Amino acid sequence: MNAATLCVMKFGGTSVGDASCIRRAAEIVKAEATLRPVVVVVSAMSGVTNRLIDAARRAETGDEESLPALVAGLRQQHSTAADELLKDHQRRKSVGDAHAAVLEELERLLRGTALLRELTPRILDTISGIGERLSAPLVAAAISELGLPSAAVSATEVIVTDGHHGRAEPLMSPTRERAEARLRPMLNSGEVPVVTGFIAATITGVQTTLGRGGSDYSATILGAALGAGETIIWTDVDGVKTADPRLVPEARTLPEISYNEAAELAYFGAKVLHPNTLRPVTAAGVPVWIRNSFEPVKPGTKITAASKSARNGVKALTAIRDVTLVTVGGPGIVGLRDVLARSFAATAAARANVLFVTQSSSQNDICFVIQTADEKRTVAALREAFAPEMEEHTVEHISADRSVAIVAAVGENMRGTPGIAGRLFSALGREGISIIAIAQGSSEYNISCVIEETAMQRAVQTLHKEFRLEDSGAN
Ligand code: ADP
Ligand code: ASP
Ligand code: MG
Repeated sequence: MNAATLCVMKFGGTSVGDASCIRRAAEIVKAEATLRPVVVVVSAMSGVTNRLIDAARRAETGDEESLPALVAGLRQQHSTAADELLKDHQRRKSVGDAHAAVLEELERLLRGTALLRELTPRILDTISGIGERLSAPLVAAAISELGLPSAAVSATEVIVTDGHHGRAEPLMSPTRERAEARLRPMLNSGEVPVVTGFIAATITGVQTTLGRGGSDYSATILGAALGAGETIIWTDVDGVKTADPRLVPEARTLPEISYNEAAELAYFGAKVLHPNTLRPVTAAGVPVWIRNSFEPVKPGTKITAASKSARNGVKALTAIRDVTLVTVGGPGIVGLRDVLARSFAATAAARANVLFVTQSSSQNDICFVIQTADEKRTVAALREAFAPEMEEHTVEHISADRSVAIVAAVGENMRGTPGIAGRLFSALGREGISIIAIAQGSSEYNISCVIEETAMQRAVQTLHKEFRLEDSGAN
């Protein structure tokens, strides 16, 4: 077998959303597996992870009442799909047994949480990863039903991460070893492994997760670990579009984009890719495809090192809400030489993701944008770091504003195309959208600005027209 031809295929939540979607996914796998070895990565069935996290949060408040309905709902959803998909009695029984064991564990976890009224990040990771442990056996059985041997594999046996619950990062060297030991023999014997996306484990076996939407990342981690020739991310849209189609219905599918462009889009909130997806494969130059599992005849978007030029430099737009603008300000800020270092030491200690930074020396403040989920920890860490200065009023305030969004224009060829920033700001100005802060990466792959959240959709639509993105791309 030629390892370079190995293909990793990831199916997202909607692509395994019900029996007919799973059957379609299984058929896609079967068609590919006749050509080359395939490793499958699956998400939870759509909506399941949200329901699990909600249930965990409710259990934390001591609420056990909704628990039986949740477990019964999950059992029903998965057994309905199994009954529709699996004609083979033995296969249906073994999937049912696997589901029963996982659901029993879920019930114990939620009851324990409700009893203690405490939800640790470690337990939240275990509860939120239940959905992938339910979907993987189902998808493997559906593939087997088509006559192609397949078995579910828990990523906790394969992907090794650090212990940062909720947003763990892979340790590639042990992951490579485990992927070889666990998956290669299956591939060599012609069996298709169906690996749980999203979840992983520390070197000592404590379950972690890679963050919301993390199954994309699982796929490229496994692709890199096994030296795959290609990773295909099957989702519910035709590929990476010029903007989020929910904000801009006329957004077009981009046939090709570069790793840098895709990474910028993902980083600034394009949900189609987990922000870290391109990291494991960029150095090796392994292509990643985004394709529509509902319309597998369409070619999708190819992500590689090269970038096809966009006519006017801007290739796509993205926007991100649920972010907070944090400002550290006061008259003494200018004289505080280490204010940036100390601010970012605090955000790093809080493990907050800083999306955007600007400093205005004349206005005596620095501001940066983080995810709202990180706000509490970050503001507390900053208040602690600057406690002495706040006491003597060198730093007057550390404030947090949640009513903002970031809008970003992305494209490798923006570098060397003059006037883009001007056009962007004028277009927003004409629409009466005021810009709270701006930043341009030194790479010039993106220009981003902070605006009022209420103007976000209008801003993206305005810029989509301004840069004539509806005339680019395909379909
Ligand atoms: P999956 O469950 O397959 O992982 P996601 O819901 O996580 O799918 O991501 C796909 C969704 O991402 C699309 O349905 C679309 O609404 C959204 N999206 C946001 N920005 C973009 C973009 N630039 N291109 C394509 N889809 C995008
Ligand atoms: N099921 C997980 C989530 O909803 C991971 C994923 O879908 O990629 O976040
Ligand atoms: Mg996703």
